[in-house]
Amino acid sequence: MKPEKLIVDGRRLDGRGPNDLRKIKIEAGVLHRADGSCYLEWGGNKVFAAVYGPREAVPRHTQNPLRAIVKARYNMAAFSVEDRKRPGPDRRSVEISKVISEALERVILTEQFPRASVDVCIEVLDAEAGTRCAGLTAAAVALVDAGIPMRDIPVACAAGKIDGQVVVDLGKEEDNYGQADLPIAIAPRTGEVLLMQMDGHLTVEEFNKAFDMAVESCGKVSEIQKKAILQRYHAVDEVIE
Ligand code: UDP
Repeated sequence: MKPEKLIVDGRRLDGRGPNDLRKIKIEAGVLHRADGSCYLEWGGNKVFAAVYGPREAVPRHTQNPLRAIVKARYNMAAFSVEDRKRPGPDRRSVEISKVISEALERVILTEQFPRASVDVCIEVLDAEAGTRCAGLTAAAVALVDAGIPMRDIPVACAAGKIDGQVVVDLGKEEDNYGQADLPIAIAPRTGEVLLMQMDGHLTVEEFNKAFDMAVESCGKVSEIQKKAILQRYHAVDEVIE
């Protein structure tokens, strides 16, 4: 049911201010059969990412003799949303897989692996808005865990507009009943934009504000990614000792 207001006395429905992110927890190296993996919780989203490769691309006609291809597959589990989702790919998941593949391809040193493929599986187990950002952020950590050489560790976050105000990281009701959603992914070292999509309407000023706020939030998420990666190596040290 549509809530009467999404912002009451300057606070959002879950008590956040405009610049506050939902709680994020990231763990690297959680799956043992994949070359690299990550488990990420972001608010009510729960996402696994697994990476395979670089390995010979099949079928062979998909191979590029000059560089590796990057194939990300985003999938939502049937039980990840309130109304059971019909299993298998649909228009939305094909679109999200494509934009995530293209974003990751921009940072992976694909020229080092001609004819190869880097495969990224993103599985959303629980969805509460912002799953493409959560999926891309998890995929980036899984790529690092797999030892795939990259120019930077990509990271994603959305900003949007609810009740006429620009805020970051829309939750479920904010996404459903808000006025705009602007998910972006960047390479944090250079600020290069790797993904940008928009739902709804924003004025130019609102767009600029939302973009800046999303970039700032990406910086915060990037720190959590780095901690998760360092944690992974600490764990390895402990086992060796
Ligand atoms: N959603 C849903 N059923 C679907 C697809 C999406 O309930 O088949 C929900 C889910 O919570 C998702 C949200 O709608 O996170 C927003 O979806 P959107 O397409 O905006 O992508 P996202 O924000 O997850 O990247």
